[in-house]
Amino acid sequence: MIPYGRQDINQADIDAVLEVLQSDFLTQGPKVPEFEAKVAGHVGAKHALAVNSATSALHIACLALGLGEGDWLWTSPVTFVASANCGLYCGAKVDFVDIDPRTYNLCPKALATKLEQAEKEGRLPKVVVAVHLCGQPCDMAAIHELGQRYGFRIIEDASHTIGGKYKDEFIGNSHYSDITVFSFHPVKIVTTAEGGMALTNDDALATRMDLLRSHGITRDQSLMTHEPDGPWYYQQVDLGFNYRMTELQAALGVSQMDRLDAFVARRHELAQRYDQLLTGLPISTPWQHPDSYSGMHLYVIRLQLDKIDRTHRQVFECLREQGIGVNLHYIPVHTQPYYQAMGFSAEDFPEAMGYYREAISLPMFQGLTNVQQDKVIEALKSSLTGSKT
Ligand SMILES: *Cc1c(COP(=O)(O)O)cnc(C)c1O
Repeated sequence: MIPYGRQDINQADIDAVLEVLQSDFLTQGPKVPEFEAKVAGHVGAKHALAVNSATSALHIACLALGLGEGDWLWTSPVTFVASANCGLYCGAKVDFVDIDPRTYNLCPKALATKLEQAEKEGRLPKVVVAVHLCGQPCDMAAIHELGQRYGFRIIEDASHTIGGKYKDEFIGNSHYSDITVFSFHPVKIVTTAEGGMALTNDDALATRMDLLRSHGITRDQSLMTHEPDGPWYYQQVDLGFNYRMTELQAALGVSQMDRLDAFVARRHELAQRYDQLLTGLPISTPWQHPDSYSGMHLYVIRLQLDKIDRTHRQVFECLREQGIGVNLHYIPVHTQPYYQAMGFSAEDFPEAMGYYREAISLPMFQGLTNVQQDKVIEALKSSLTGSKT
């Protein structure tokens, strides 16, 4: 089976992890700050906080922004559930904004319309999570402008987008947001096995997230509410968690970062090959906004169902049967049973549902060879022909 995504581990990565295993620190040592500095330096952020997953990063980002009971978090329905769940963790309510049919990202026009309505009803969001789907950045300038007008804070869920750029600047510099989050899960662009990171330019947000990732405990006197009893002293000043990244993970991350540019370049090469070799088929290939340089985490095609005599499911199954590990990113979050119980109905977000009925993620990862890619293309061609019965 050719998977849709796969990690790329070389000898340097293995050596880096082994070195940590033989060192003094398996956790809370020098590798985590080294990894943080490397990522922050690369993308141009002031602070980077490494944690054990992007899900954890989203949680502490929401908490640091003061999201709580009675507040609203809005995001795109076409994302991984974690982009929305972080609001629920904080006791806030979650709502969605439909997608732009060209980029599949949260649509700024739909956002503007929904904000106008929400203002009248007194239920404006406190936080909007902008997800850069497949690696393509959202229209951040437009979202930021709406944030200024309506007073919401912005988290970029850039789990798909390390190495991607918006208006020629790396995603992660949080130029148009309060906090940006990366994921280092093995299917993502750079991996630490499990892992995530929250980046910000705001000192206070960084301090708060630093506390929250490690029990709300500090040894920094300036953060303590009273004088320490002695040199052994630490103080719990907030209710935090253990969301720390290990030294082994950070060492892997440091080593992987050396190949980030090469990873993203190879992904773009593969995307261009797909674009060329899939022309003329009854599908749409990903449209790229001229302002964006995608991280190219996913390559999603949409079937033109009126032009073929097969169902979406038939094409998907036919690809799987031929050993192509296609996937679907994502089942719209508002259709998940847990969200349905909150009263959402599928057709609340028609663009998201239209996408869901046609989308298929083709294999896209730096280790995919041209020969494997040709196999994917041949399998797709044969899957598109044939009849429904
Ligand atoms: C993978 C992913 C996450 C969660 O990342 P983890 O590191 O697995 O917690 C969140 N949001 C999006 C868009 C993702 O793709």
